[in-house]
Amino acid sequence: MTRPLILLSNDDGIDSEGIKTLEEAVRDLGDIYVVAPDEERSAASHALTLHKPLRINERDPRHFSINGTPTDCINFGLYVILPRKPHLIVSGINHGSNLADDVTYSGTVSAAFEGSILGTLSMAFSLEAPESDTLPFQFKTARHYARKLVERQLKYPHDSSVLLSINIPNRPLSAVKGVQVTRLGKRIINETNIIRKEDPRGRPYYWIGMGPKDFEPDPQSDLHAIDQGFVSVTPLHLDLTHYPSIHQMKEWAEENSFSSGDSEDA
Ligand SMILES: [Mg+2]
Repeated sequence: MTRPLILLSNDDGIDSEGIKTLEEAVRDLGDIYVVAPDEERSAASHALTLHKPLRINERDPRHFSINGTPTDCINFGLYVILPRKPHLIVSGINHGSNLADDVTYSGTVSAAFEGSILGTLSMAFSLEAPESDTLPFQFKTARHYARKLVERQLKYPHDSSVLLSINIPNRPLSAVKGVQVTRLGKRIINETNIIRKEDPRGRPYYWIGMGPKDFEPDPQSDLHAIDQGFVSVTPLHLDLTHYPSIHQMKEWAEENSFSSGDSEDA
């Protein structure tokens, strides 16, 4: 059997501890290629770079940095750098969790979305941030679960249209309670999410996304799982269609009130 080909990427940049930990975790599970941004692109979401030239920096035959976004990196990995289609794309390990609504901002999860859109089985790993900057990220815990879950995904692959977003609690390995399959939760975001300060000249400046981390109670959610000390595995797909509304809006459109005959300037 051919060794699996695995493409790694992230949004924290090719030199981040997270992607190095991920590579260590999966190194002996297949032939590994790393194609990642040359610097941090966190919260890059699903952006493609359209207005500047992109360049590939080959550090060695298996490690490539790109002066672009995580989504750019997946495209370059699949269509320019890898010798054949990979069995699996793994993004991360992100420095900080990607839970609930975070997945829409996350470059880490978007790299896996891009892999899934382009027809390759994909996963994203994120490690909860420590409670303060003086405390360490528990990468040993993340490494253990990244390996176990990649191994499982190679053995029992999902449909490539479903990607797995995995969040790991920032606890010592022995303090993690297990793995839960979850759905996306809901954060409570309000005006406290934007912090206003003043510079020495009295002019205001702002930090966004720094407010309290409250969320709606839901025992099935990713937020709840991490809060309780479990690894959260959320299956995601990119069909954003709200199917119940289609039926409702079909009738709405059939009322025909949008025809040119009703318009004021007809
Ligand atoms: Mg990041």
